[in-house]
Amino acid sequence: MNQPVRVRFAPSPTGPLHIGGVRTALFNYLFAKKHQGVFYLRIEDTDQNRFVPGAEQYIFEALDWLGIAPSETVGKNEQFGPYRQSERKPLYKQYADQLIASGNAYYAFDTAEALDLHRKQHEEQGKTFIYNWHNREKLDTSLVLSQEKTQKRIDSGEDYVIRFKTPVNETLHLHDIIRGDIQFETNLLDDKVLFKSDGMPTYHLANIVDDHLMQTSHVIRGEEWLPSMPLHVLLYRSLGWQAPEFAHLPLILKPVGNGKLSKRDGDKLGFPVFPLEWKSEDGVSAGYREKGFFPEAVINFLALLGWNDGTDKELFSLIELVEAFDLNRVHKSGAKFDPEKNKWFNHQYLQKQNNTELAKAYDAILKEKGIAVAQDKLQSLVAMIKERAHFVSEFWELSEFFFHAPISYDEKAAKNWNADTQKLMQELITVLENIPDFRSENVETIVKDWMTKNEIGMGKVMQPFRLSLVGALKGPHLFDIADWIGKQETIQRIQKAIDTI
Ligand code: GLU
Repeated sequence: MNQPVRVRFAPSPTGPLHIGGVRTALFNYLFAKKHQGVFYLRIEDTDQNRFVPGAEQYIFEALDWLGIAPSETVGKNEQFGPYRQSERKPLYKQYADQLIASGNAYYAFDTAEALDLHRKQHEEQGKTFIYNWHNREKLDTSLVLSQEKTQKRIDSGEDYVIRFKTPVNETLHLHDIIRGDIQFETNLLDDKVLFKSDGMPTYHLANIVDDHLMQTSHVIRGEEWLPSMPLHVLLYRSLGWQAPEFAHLPLILKPVGNGKLSKRDGDKLGFPVFPLEWKSEDGVSAGYREKGFFPEAVINFLALLGWNDGTDKELFSLIELVEAFDLNRVHKSGAKFDPEKNKWFNHQYLQKQNNTELAKAYDAILKEKGIAVAQDKLQSLVAMIKERAHFVSEFWELSEFFFHAPISYDEKAAKNWNADTQKLMQELITVLENIPDFRSENVETIVKDWMTKNEIGMGKVMQPFRLSLVGALKGPHLFDIADWIGKQETIQRIQKAIDTI
């Protein structure tokens, strides 16, 4: 690499950023950091018909939340600005003109109706109409008009577009970092529109002009843009510019079947496909943030959608990802999206969170229920239950019994409760009453000594004891629960079980 690395994420603000877009942003970010380069973000909003309010803000907020904000973008280090294509409008025309002057583009005046007619006529003959080398000289273009005539029509205000004049009979030898060498026949390309008489460039022209002017070294983007690569390479060549290197990332596939993961799959299958919640007239689409995912977990599982470091390692911090990332290790074939695996990642990151933070998060949930607990108590509770949780939102379900005595008892477990159990539980109460230091380990030692001395089987005491405190045979270490709720509450709960079961 002789040129400094400058890569970009170039989303169109046509709706909430899909998880596939986030993965593209992430791979660009990782590549830039790995090579001490720049990751910038350009808003591609030339298609004003598809503009969606709030979408741009959403993109910035999502990348900020994930910790992969660009270092140059709208309102931030704008040395190659503006970073919004709509604000760069006056800049593109000269390049369209340059392409016309060099014979690489031409004006086309065909009206929508005329094009429809061509399509129909072709269909009637069982053919498909393509605006290309084969047809272009039979159409209403500057290729068949004199220069004066063309100018006259433009001056009179007639609508036109500028199309690329694709070279004929050429085999293009392209290179993609992920896909290797690719050959492409120019005769298979159509003459894409580059510019319209309303003064707006199309995606293709704006994209390559900006990638050039913003000194982009590598274009890393989704596989869906691979078919545009020949045109883009030809445009660079026609403008006399060096093309950046290209890397087209594999598709993200649905959890089942082979289709591409779509924006609708999330709501249909019950998992988020958006980083943040998105509200629109069509309803609310779930977001990873609102669902309680940690941004680090989202980053980690996205990084492994189409890439690995060549080992079995799955847990990577962002810094480790930067270190390990290599475009040459990105796969060609689609990456299956696995919602269960996503939850697994969140579980892993939940274990890594410190208990102070988790307690704070849980405190907010408890406050809504009108429950107030001292911070240190809450921290010790969180430490007990977190290994069973994927999300903080599951804490309540996992620990509700810490806050009140059982209202009901698991039926199956209660069936084993007999006269002998009643007696043993009554004795257990007496044992517990005589323990002044009610810390978990101490209580455990004394209770176990009592069982050993009296030759009482473990299960005979521990199961009904647990049932009394929890209402079911679940939960963390029993003596930790007793310690947490305290001596008096422990004894009261056993008494209540004796009276109820
Ligand atoms: N604006 C395009 C998009 O929405 C960018 C494609 C590219 O990266 O060239 O994905």
